Amino acid sequence: MQAIYIPHLLQALHRTQTLVFDDFIPELETLTPFRGKMRVRHGGTFLQVSVKGETIITLTCDPCLQQYNRRLNLDTSEIIWLDKDVDIQSYPQEREIAWEDLSETLSSEGHFDAQSWLYEQLSLAVPLRQLCGKDCQPPTTENDENTPITDGRWSGLEALKRQLSP
Ligand SMILES: [Zn+2]
Repeated sequence: MQAIYIPHLLQALHRTQTLVFDDFIPELETLTPFRGKMRVRHGGTFLQVSVKGETIITLTCDPCLQQYNRRLNLDTSEIIWLDKDVDIQSYPQEREIAWEDLSETLSSEGHFDAQSWLYEQLSLAVPLRQLCGKDCQPPTTENDENTPITDGRWSGLEALKRQLSP
C-alpha cells in the first residue's frame, strides 16, 4: 500500500510528491499492471491529486458473458479537502455547494492512501455497459432446430423467425 503522510508533503519540493506506479492493483482484475504517474500536491487547505496512466482490464461481456480485455486510460484529477478534524458534519451546508469539486475530506494530519484512491479512479473509469464487440449478441440456443415443437403457437413463431432471419 502506498500511503502518503500528508504533513510530509509540506516539506516536499513544490509541496508535491510524485508516485510512479507499475503494479497490479489488488482486487482489480487486470491483464497488465497499472503503469502511470500520480502527483499529489499540498495546497494548504486541500490536496490536489492527479493521475495519468493505463492498464488493460479484464471485463466480462454483459450479453455473451465472455471475458475480454479492454485498455483503460486514466487521466483525471481530484481535489481533496483537508481539515484537522474530519467531522464534515460540523461544516455549514453552504460549503458543499461552494466547493462542489471537493468531494472528499481527509484529516490534514492523516494519510492519503494513494492506492485506494487509484483503485477508486480505475473503478470509475470502467464502462458501465460491458460489451466485447460492437455487434455482440446474447448467445443463441444452438439446438433450436433439433428441438421438436409441440405447441402450434410456437411453430407459427418459428416460421416467422425463419422469414426474418437472413
Ligand atoms: Zn460479448
